[in-house]
Amino acid sequence: MTFKSFNPPERILMGPGPSQVSARVLSALARPTIGHLDPEFVRMMDEVKSLLQYAFKTKNEFTIALSAPGSAGMEACFVNLVERGDKVIVCRNGVFGGRMVENVTRLGAEAIIVDSPWGRAVEIDKVQAALDANPDAKFLAFVHAETSTGAVSDAKTLCKMAQDNDCLTIVDAVTSLGGVELRVDDWGIDAIYSGTQKCMSCVPGISPVSFSDKAVAVAKNRKTPIQSWFLDQTLVMAYWGGAGKRSYHHTAPVNSLYALHESLLMVQEEGIENAWARHRAQHESLAKGLKKLGIEFIVPEDERLPQLNTIHIPEGADDAKVRSYLLEHYNLEIGAGLGDLAGKAWRIGLMGHTAQSENVALCLAALEDALN
Ligand code: PLP
Repeated sequence: MTFKSFNPPERILMGPGPSQVSARVLSALARPTIGHLDPEFVRMMDEVKSLLQYAFKTKNEFTIALSAPGSAGMEACFVNLVERGDKVIVCRNGVFGGRMVENVTRLGAEAIIVDSPWGRAVEIDKVQAALDANPDAKFLAFVHAETSTGAVSDAKTLCKMAQDNDCLTIVDAVTSLGGVELRVDDWGIDAIYSGTQKCMSCVPGISPVSFSDKAVAVAKNRKTPIQSWFLDQTLVMAYWGGAGKRSYHHTAPVNSLYALHESLLMVQEEGIENAWARHRAQHESLAKGLKKLGIEFIVPEDERLPQLNTIHIPEGADDAKVRSYLLEHYNLEIGAGLGDLAGKAWRIGLMGHTAQSENVALCLAALEDALN
């Protein structure tokens, strides 16, 4: 058998991630590979750390880019902090909250599940009731931006409630980082993870992670060893530990980190608050156009994520056929429904570099064509 080089088609990525990667970030990816302990690479890693601190709005010393996707970021938070027998209150309002529950139970800990309807924010009253009923709970875990439904939850309030009840917070910011307001230090988040392929508009496969000093102390003072060697952040700390102190832990994805450095630079140049505002403005313009097409949102207006628009599939439209039509005729990818919303919803992503007016216009025109 003979094979040829793979040349992917050029798509417009308006699904739930990965989002569009700019030419600037792609060209950073193609720069010469150097050693992952080369002093120049180490210097760049220090900059990645500072730029991540900027994006997360934190001064947390332990702020790193984990060499693995968002799912590993999730697992890293749970496996480092949670021990067998611990009580963890987990908010579940979509697929990814469900994965948090899986993480907790696989560690032999007890998940107190607070269910909220799919397509809605986490219900604050129910969380308060769970905190009241479980004064011995050690952690409160929730997904800030539920990518499976397009709902944003009130992270600030949830963190305050956790602090008032002596719980540490574990927050999924895979889809929220860079797309909506997120303030790790001001809100007192203890452990947070994200992904590079959403509003950071970088290549997939890296997970920004940040732990507060309190969370670092919990990881360092456990009764039992951390079950995962690769995700043991107390070992990774030496690898990300600042210039001159770096020692080998694993071989970093060197070129992907060049790409992340470049995409974080772009976020900093734009200003994170401006990036939040751009996502909101593009969402509003998409929402206006969808209304004209008679297409309705699943999530109530004040709980909608600007970067992930979940809409009802119009009556009579064939889910798979419409998505294939968009791909074939417009090179445009939109997302299918996930979990409970499979076959019922489409997910239109406006994440990072994708959140531009020309993409909104293309998506609206293409949908109008596909539905007629
Ligand atoms: N959490 C949320 C909210 C997500 O949207 C995703 C991916 O879409 C993940 C976790 C998992 O990230 P990854 O696919 O990079 O492993």
